[in-house]
Amino acid sequence: MQGLMMDMPLLVSDLLKHAARHHATTEIVSKTVEGAMHRYNYRDAAARARKLGNALKRLGVQQQDRVATLAWNSFRHFEVYYAAAGSGAIIHTVNPRLFPDQIVYIANHAEDKVIFFDITFAPLVEKLAPQLKTVKHWVAMTDRAHMPKIAGALCYEELMEKENDRYEWPSFDERMAAVLCYTSGTTGNPKGALYSHRSTLIHAYASALPDAISVSARDVILPVVPMFHVNAWGLPYACALSGAKLVFPAQHLDGKSLHELFETEEVTMSAGVPTVWLGLLNYMKEHRLRFSTLKRVIIGGSACPPTMIRAFQEEYGVNVLHAWGMTEMSPLGTATTFKAKHLKMSGEERTKLQCKQGRALFGVDMRIVGEDGQELPWDGKAFGDLQVRGPWVIKSYFKGEGGDPLKDGWFPTGDVCTIDPDGYIQITDRSKDVIKSGGEWISSID
Ligand code: AMP
Repeated sequence: MQGLMMDMPLLVSDLLKHAARHHATTEIVSKTVEGAMHRYNYRDAAARARKLGNALKRLGVQQQDRVATLAWNSFRHFEVYYAAAGSGAIIHTVNPRLFPDQIVYIANHAEDKVIFFDITFAPLVEKLAPQLKTVKHWVAMTDRAHMPKIAGALCYEELMEKENDRYEWPSFDERMAAVLCYTSGTTGNPKGALYSHRSTLIHAYASALPDAISVSARDVILPVVPMFHVNAWGLPYACALSGAKLVFPAQHLDGKSLHELFETEEVTMSAGVPTVWLGLLNYMKEHRLRFSTLKRVIIGGSACPPTMIRAFQEEYGVNVLHAWGMTEMSPLGTATTFKAKHLKMSGEERTKLQCKQGRALFGVDMRIVGEDGQELPWDGKAFGDLQVRGPWVIKSYFKGEGGDPLKDGWFPTGDVCTIDPDGYIQITDRSKDVIKSGGEWISSID
């Protein structure tokens, strides 16, 4: 017998529709690429995303075409996210920090049809354009006054002016692709992870939970992690789902700019890699500054050092949430939130626990296996290859690149870790770095 509940597809456009209806006046604030501040709200963002939906149609973008971006975190990038995926195309966020040759490979492999770019990347675009054969339109994400001199490039704001905001987001199978992100590919060519509407929404639901990264309508969230790096860890989706105020910093990621934005916009939560926080903490120390509203920072992408955890928590009263994930996992896998029993621990013991990468979000099943493929115990000592599975974990790379990545239905992450009896993982290595000696594995850190 089938359940008798409505069978409605989980679609990315629903996130923005919800935010526009229930959090219409909640702000989205951007320090723009051009330098000025831009403020509007979810209602305005949704109206402009619908205009962009019409513009994409006018540009000839068809269902499942790849619409790429070379862009910083900003309101326009947010609009492209929703207009591309919402209209049934695929948003392909290209990492502009890659070598131009890699970008050429990626854009050709993805067969990008339109590329939206920030004006800071105009010199890069000039270099790339002759080599990208599938791209029909280049759109500079700016207004007429700031248009770079690139032959044939379209102006984002001029495109928008021509459209009205009457646009029905189409409904389709939730398993259709919504987002394409390439892994940085330390060996071989980058490979594409292709998220579906369903996987993106389930990831957004799970990540917003209090024991994940906790995103709420009372939060003001500044994603430092770029929207070109695994969707800024999914925050543009989780924030719309929850109705959190969003603050976008564009390329202004130095300590001074970030601190100013945190203070003026009353940011409560932020997310980024350790190197960014190092820059901010040094600036704060040098100028004897404090945070007035910041309560939490999510740190991931590489291991968070204990000194950073102590600095945030003990010197600034800001809680650290250490998280782990990867492009192939949309990206969130684990977060280091406490269980009730941990609240009795001393500060030092808690910091020690926070140095681990945390426990699995519901939706991520995990295990560690030894060289023989046998599962290893969760004793906090045995370390082996970390394998995962779940509704937002990759099953195959875009265009089947690299063959079947799964082993017995599990995705091998390439990370080596221990899992303690409470389910907290601690990454000790990448599996290719482990020293294998006579059947025994020795962590390269040891
Ligand atoms: P990417 O797909 O580029 O986001 O890289 C994912 C990889 O970054 C993971 O497989 C880990 O090796 C590493 N990584 C991510 N978060 C952490 C973390 N909190 N601690 C240690 N390594 C991490």
